[in-house]
This record gives sequence, structure tokens and C-alpha cells, in this order.
Amino acid sequence: MRLELIDDGPVNSRFLVHLDDGARVEAVRYRGDTLCLSTQVGCAVGCPFCASGANGLERPLTEDELRFQVDAAEEAGGPLERLTLSGVGEPLHAHRATRPFIDWARERGLPTSLTTSGGPTARLREWLHAPHNGLTLSCHAGTEPTRARLVPRGPSLEELFDTLADEHRRMTNKRKKKTALAYLVLAGENDSDAEVDAFVERALPLGFRVHLYGYNPVPTSTHRGPDDATFDRIEERMRAAGARVVRSSRARRRPNGGCGTLVALRRAQ
Ligand code: SF4
Repeated sequence: MRLELIDDGPVNSRFLVHLDDGARVEAVRYRGDTLCLSTQVGCAVGCPFCASGANGLERPLTEDELRFQVDAAEEAGGPLERLTLSGVGEPLHAHRATRPFIDWARERGLPTSLTTSGGPTARLREWLHAPHNGLTLSCHAGTEPTRARLVPRGPSLEELFDTLADEHRRMTNKRKKKTALAYLVLAGENDSDAEVDAFVERALPLGFRVHLYGYNPVPTSTHRGPDDATFDRIEERMRAAGARVVRSSRARRRPNGGCGTLVALRRAQ
């Protein structure tokens, strides 16, 4: 395996991870101290706005391949402080590697967060109680048709929120504080008042924070982000309804590290 630096910016450094079978995925070092790792070569969820799953799924990464990304990034750029499983792939689909990996990382003093579309929900139940450093559930919708369009092979909102409501009763306060819901705003897709209100209505009873994400355009998609006024209006609307809203960090909106922009290259390419 080999790590290749492909974009060294002032805030983020982006790497191509060459795997032994010839497949390649990307990883990003944010602000010098946080590594965003990929967990699969491609992704089966097929969110139409995301470059990572544009070519479907080839295979999940092994635990060794996850560890390699950490070791090689530290060798290239010095010690890391935290990790996030938010690159290419759905971490719950790579459960066999990702679940032991967060224990390994913890032993190294590297708290690890993850972003997931929530399926399969049987695994989500386990992960909601796991010793992660933050679990962000990609929702991106308030109604089922929008969810089915934007997260095609993820669980429905009903299945997702039923699972969350059920586990919420068993979660410790610390786990609740570490869990958040993500809403990526896409122009003309999920930026209407009705869609936002429907999402907030589902989200509020759980009391989780809401991460409001701006969109990073990618060549594989025609989706676009909202204008600033629309983004501000949605944030205000969520806050006025009682949601605790956090905007995505600047580092994750930069062209060389934006969420949803990391790619996977199959062996044959
Ligand atoms: S957004 Fe996440 S779950 Fe959706 S296709 Fe991209 S990597 Fe997969």
C-alpha cells in the first residue's frame, strides 16, 4: 500500500491511497490534525450528489487498510489528534473492519467519529452505543420521496427515526450528545419550507444537534447548493422551530476536502 499526496493546500491535504489490489481511494487531512478516511472502494448507497458512490461499490476496506491510512498519514505529516470515517464508503457496510478499528484507534489516543446513512438499522442500533467520538446520521430530507431520491439505498426516514426513537431510551447522555443529524441542502431538492419543517418535526423529539451542510459540487452530479439567502433562511427556520443547528466547518467546504467529493477508483481504471 502507498499514500500519495495529490493536493497540499493551506488548510487541507488530500491523498490518494493505493491499495495492494490496484484499487485507489482518497483521504483528507483537515487542518493538520484530523484525518478523514475512506472505508470502502466506492459505495452502494448511491446518493446522486456524491462522487464517492458514482461508480457503485467494489468492496469494503479491511481493518489493515484502515490502519494503513492512519499510519501513513502520520508518517507523512506528523501526529494526528482525531479521525473521522467520513470519506469514500458507508462505514456501517464495512462494519467488520470499522467496528474493531475504532477500538484500535481509541487505544492509540485517536478518537474517531463517523458519518453514516444509517443502514442497515440493525447495525445502527449497535453503533449508536459504540465508543465513537461522534456519529452523524445523513438524513437530508423530511419526506420519504425526497429521502428515497437523495439516499436511494439507505433506510427510509420512518425506519431510521423509529430506530433512533427506540435506541434513544437506552443511550447514555454522553452518547446522545455525540449523535447528530445531517441535512445537506440541495437547490430545488430539499430546500422548501415544507421539506425543512417535516425534517424538524421528526428531529426535534430526539434533541440531537442538526449539522447543516453546504454542498460541494462534483463533476459526477448536476446538483447544486442553495444561494446564501436560502441557506440562511433554512438555518433560521430550523432554529426558530427549536433545533440546535451547527453549520459545516470551512475545512469541509474547501475544494480539496469537501464532503462528498472524495473518489474511489476501481482496479480496472
Ligand atoms: S454520501 Fe456517503 S452514503 Fe451516500 S454515496 Fe456518498 S459515500 Fe455513500
